[in-house]
Amino acid sequence: AKKDGRNAYRFFTSEMQAQSARALLLENALRRALERGQLSLHYQPQFALTEDDEALESQIIGAEALLRWQHPELGWVSPAEFIPVAESSGLILPIGEWVLKEALSQLVRWDRAGLPGLTMAVNLSAVQFRHDNLPELVDRLLGEVGLPAGRLELELTEGAAMHNPTVAITVMNALHARGVRLSIDDFGTGHSSLSYLKKFRVSKLKIDQSFVRDLTEDAEDRAIVDAVIRMAGALGLETLAEGVETPGQLDFLRRQGCQAVQGYLFSRPLTAAAFEEFVVAHIQA
Ligand code: C2E
Ligand code: CA
Ligand code: CA
Ligand code: CA
Repeated sequence: AKKDGRNAYRFFTSEMQAQSARALLLENALRRALERGQLSLHYQPQFALTEDDEALESQIIGAEALLRWQHPELGWVSPAEFIPVAESSGLILPIGEWVLKEALSQLVRWDRAGLPGLTMAVNLSAVQFRHDNLPELVDRLLGEVGLPAGRLELELTEGAAMHNPTVAITVMNALHARGVRLSIDDFGTGHSSLSYLKKFRVSKLKIDQSFVRDLTEDAEDRAIVDAVIRMAGALGLETLAEGVETPGQLDFLRRQGCQAVQGYLFSRPLTAAAFEEFVVAHIQA
């Protein structure tokens, strides 16, 4: 047993060493990723649902910007892996600023190309959210590209908001006063105290894809999603369900009164050029 224990321990440490070596490798590579042009954004369309229609009636209302990193040797690295590295190293601040600037600039390019006035949703890390100058940064970037604040929506996880709710409320108020929209991302997976929802200046709850995945088989997930939609309605908040992959899921969400959806059923995240083509094709259809 002792021997097993020691082996297990050794295995554990070498595993941990491999993990931290990988993290260090990623951190060093990420440090140069921006200047070397290895980062890009993909855009996933978001759709508003119309309640009364028999036929599938959906309208593209916006895009969620999703960060992509392609490294010459490491290949495509998943944001699920490199975002935590960016956060712990502080690199998320320059990277997050680049994401905001790039997403807003793209929205201007789409406006010029004649696309309907979409909303750009940008993911915000807790580190960015807590950083002192976020409202000023957002002001400056909107001014630089020349867009009204209402075209930008910032997605914040419950964890980021609940880390320090008092600070969160101050930052949310500052962003809200400027007209920037806020949504709670991955809603239902964090530890949000429901009593804070009415104090948070958010306009939308994004129902996490983990509740959407088994919607057609799992009565409990249906109950949770139904409750979230009704609570949001009572609080005057919109709901957007993410990770919608099947017509059955869509059908349930529509019937429960979910206002908006996003997911592979409609489209995967696309390059800016492919997104533009997608929108044009959708409008003509
Ligand atoms: P998220 O914000 O919850 O984004 C949704 C994720 O689900 C994205 O993964 C998206 O590609 C994926 N997805 C969309 N539709 C479907 C679907 O129908 N089925 C399934 N199975 N997945 C779907 P992605 O792009 O790999 O991003 C992962 C996470 O990385 C994001 O989760 C977000 O937390 C983070 N992230 C991505 N871009 C940024 C960024 O610019 N800044 C920050 N701070 N975080 C980011
Ligand atoms: Ca998101
Ligand atoms: Ca999400
Ligand atoms: Ca997520």
